[in-house]
Amino acid sequence: MHLVCLHNVIAGQPDEFDGKCSRISVREFGSFLDSVASRFRLVGYSDYQAMLLEGRPDPEAVALSFDDGFLGVHDHAAPVLAERGLDAVAFVNPPFIGNPPDRIFHFLELEIAFRLTACDRLSVSFWDAAFDLTEIRSRIAAMKRVKKLLKTRPEAERAACHAEVLGALGVPRDEILRHAASAAKYRTMEAGQIRALRDLGWTIGSHTMSHRTLSMLPEDALAAEIGDAARALEAEFGWTGLPFAYPYGAEIHVGTRPPQVCAAAGHPLAFTTIPGPSDAAAAPHLLPRIDYKVFLRDQDLALAA
Ligand SMILES: [Zn+2]
Repeated sequence: MHLVCLHNVIAGQPDEFDGKCSRISVREFGSFLDSVASRFRLVGYSDYQAMLLEGRPDPEAVALSFDDGFLGVHDHAAPVLAERGLDAVAFVNPPFIGNPPDRIFHFLELEIAFRLTACDRLSVSFWDAAFDLTEIRSRIAAMKRVKKLLKTRPEAERAACHAEVLGALGVPRDEILRHAASAAKYRTMEAGQIRALRDLGWTIGSHTMSHRTLSMLPEDALAAEIGDAARALEAEFGWTGLPFAYPYGAEIHVGTRPPQVCAAAGHPLAFTTIPGPSDAAAAPHLLPRIDYKVFLRDQDLALAA
């Protein structure tokens, strides 16, 4: 069986940045579900987890997960799934719940700076050639290369490079925050909306405090990223023993220590984005997941026009 990884479902037509930042429209989401259901048995995450824990995985079962706690999960994904009698799991970052005014995910900060910059090229100390920013496509390509590079750098270096990119793009932080506040697609769920999902039968899980690459953190920061998030979710909602999803989640981002820290923090299951089926032999803190686009491609499934 498979657990598919999605991020955000949005109203209206996604723009070119959205399409490369894991946002899909309600129509695309419905089409995705139809396509999966044509070949597999769509199940709720609650059923998926029960089958996993009871050691009776169904090879035909596919369940859904949503990372980062965006509002679109509550507003657009949950109603579509409810019509089909399905629940899912949402992995959330406690400090971002409810959109605190001065807080923004670092990957969104980069995206918005690439969207708004007036620069037509970007030169940074950690990349040999300058990035061309004259067209949307080249901007998106530059953003993707920068994001990919930064998430595999040791944390102090990542933070310095992140600041350098923002400085070079020249978009002031208050402008980035204003832009983020201007569109629902950037917003996260409020605590009440997370409770509402749980009332619908959804599972809520932890996705760390600040969404940094766990394999790149020093030991004390690693323990805090995982442990503080678990404690914050317990303090806010009273929930313990929740599943966990590693930010980014490829082998290079997960590393060797984080699975042990997750287990020690009381998470019974932890999900990577290392593709593959969840079978009886899967290690509980290195469970596979598969990005929805990769799943469509690998299974040779197409979205309906
Ligand atoms: Zn994430």
